[in-house]
Amino acid sequence: MKHPRTHAWKAAAATTAGGLVLAGLRTATGRPVRSAPTLAAAGAGLAAGGLMAYEWLTPRSWLYGPVFWHARTAERVVALTFDDGPCYPYTGQLLEILDREGIRATFFQVGNNVMREPNLSAEVASQHEVGNHTFTHPHLTWSQPGTVRDQLLRGQEAIHNATGTLPRLFRVPHGWYGPQVISVAGDLGMKCVGWSVMAWDWDRPPSDVIQSRILHGAGPGGVTLLHDGQDTQAFPMADRSHTIAAVSDIISSLKANGYGFRTVPELMDLDAAG
Ligand SMILES: [Zn+2]
Repeated sequence: MKHPRTHAWKAAAATTAGGLVLAGLRTATGRPVRSAPTLAAAGAGLAAGGLMAYEWLTPRSWLYGPVFWHARTAERVVALTFDDGPCYPYTGQLLEILDREGIRATFFQVGNNVMREPNLSAEVASQHEVGNHTFTHPHLTWSQPGTVRDQLLRGQEAIHNATGTLPRLFRVPHGWYGPQVISVAGDLGMKCVGWSVMAWDWDRPPSDVIQSRILHGAGPGGVTLLHDGQDTQAFPMADRSHTIAAVSDIISSLKANGYGFRTVPELMDLDAAG
């Protein structure tokens, strides 16, 4: 079944095309460009087109289908999410921290990395929620639906072979959903997930910077984004030491501020109940 917002984006597309065509026709038939109706038609077309472009690129897309990026709640809870793993030795270090703190998190794993570290992937899945983050971590924003489908299915297969579970969540690599990505993920039974706060930790800023960026942006129902791997690379090319060093302090500060921790599906349930 198609998402109801299929109609919303078609209406936006019609407004874009209609507004621009009308403005063009009026101009072509000799009406003054600066007349109010021409400007209004062009303005409506550009605004609707701008909305479509923005919604194509934002990690919090709404127009083309649902992308979950936070729970609407006043409850002090957050979901910690980690992308691009599993990756030795960082994923194992992270599992120890989370175990010590009694926290369940959500990991968006790359199929290629899962095949390299199947046991680590299975260890994550035994304690935490695992989502699909494609097979080779490509930019999918402008990809054909067939390419998107292939990346998602190969990711599902790798994770299923390693862990015995089939992910219900998907996060697009590099953060930019396109309508075709949301649609394919939905057809394959996966919910798209964004985030409410991230730390640009792929640039390897110092751990205190990673910590302050996350704490500054975290709020009730928030979804944090950090990385326990780096694309499809392995150690030592992948270096997530700064992120791992920040995680314990992030958790203790959030706990000190009264926050509890949930997996993404638990946040989704909370959102649906609210
Ligand atoms: Zn990623």
